[in-house]
Amino acid sequence: MIFDSLLGMFSVDMGIDLGTCNTLVCVKGEGVVLNEPSVVAVRRGTNQVLRNGNAVGQVAKDMLGRTPGSISAIRPLKDGVIAYFDITEAMLGYFIRKVHGRNRLVKPRVVVAVPSGITAVEKRAVYNSAERAGARRVYLVEEPMAAGIGAGLPIGEPTASMIVDIGGGTTEVAIMALADIAVVQSIRVAGDEMDSAIVAYLRRKYDIMVGLQTAEKIKIELGSIMPLDEEVTKEVRGRDIVGGLPRKCTVSSEEIREALEEPVDAITQCVMRTLESAEPELAADLMENGIFLAGGGALLRGMDQRLTAATCLDVRLVDDPLSCVARGTSVYLENLIAWKDTMESDRDEY
Ligand code: ADP
Ligand code: MG
Repeated sequence: MIFDSLLGMFSVDMGIDLGTCNTLVCVKGEGVVLNEPSVVAVRRGTNQVLRNGNAVGQVAKDMLGRTPGSISAIRPLKDGVIAYFDITEAMLGYFIRKVHGRNRLVKPRVVVAVPSGITAVEKRAVYNSAERAGARRVYLVEEPMAAGIGAGLPIGEPTASMIVDIGGGTTEVAIMALADIAVVQSIRVAGDEMDSAIVAYLRRKYDIMVGLQTAEKIKIELGSIMPLDEEVTKEVRGRDIVGGLPRKCTVSSEEIREALEEPVDAITQCVMRTLESAEPELAADLMENGIFLAGGGALLRGMDQRLTAATCLDVRLVDDPLSCVARGTSVYLENLIAWKDTMESDRDEY
């Protein structure tokens, strides 16, 4: 153990939120040092990452949907878990090297947040890719716990805390107490599904085809769940389905609200189901403590009001919902020795 802390002086331990949409890396004492989309550009039909050195992250995301014939930009994680093993490894390696630098003597220890309830095979994929990407030691923590810790909730106490994390691929709803997860439900409806709902809506209503990137922009600019004080409109460009030529149309925030109804309803139902399956004592605590929203999807205007209306509980956003899982992993880093029994690791203590 002393040996391990000595090694720590020569390497930079890091906490990683390996999300479907965004990967964030935290370093002890420095907070979030890297925040990039989980996107990699590869040679089409292969798993070969482009060799120009910057085909990962924001640069690759800008390519999504508009890549020339020989290149494709892909997201190596789907529904919160690794779908393309080699590409995830390349991406993690790129991010870890970017934070750690190439010249340090000792490899870093990393704490990775993973969705709760992933299978042993999926966990192994995370271990292997982090190790082959340059980690000396890998610890896994459950995302809802990391989110709760990052948000500063009293998850170690004998009272219930509830987190609703609306990410890109999945929404995870968890009730925690005494540093453990009491109830967790996860659905594969979150930000991506909202983007697809907008694409489908515009196609149906205006015969216009827009890309997922455009749909995401529309969602972030116009998206809302409850009526806005001042409804807004936006000009949208895409391709006419009938004629095939570029065309534009104007959409309103009311229309986008209608488009988002289905995914938002699915998320609301998931929250209700989780509450219904909680022990009465925990449910009673939540009347006092309320529900906390995390993840990028929590930023959709009116999400908190919608869930308040459905559950009659107090619903609040955590500070900076996009980074709270990553900030939680850095708290784990600070307590690596004391908390190591609460984390799964790839190897036994030496
Ligand atoms: P993940 O953990 O899966 O990587 P994130 O928590 O980073 O996901 O959230 C990404 C999702 O949040 C994306 O679908 C993105 O479109 C959505 N998002 C980000 N900002 C906003 C916003 N202001 N309003 C609505 N959705 C948003
Ligand atoms: Mg996430």
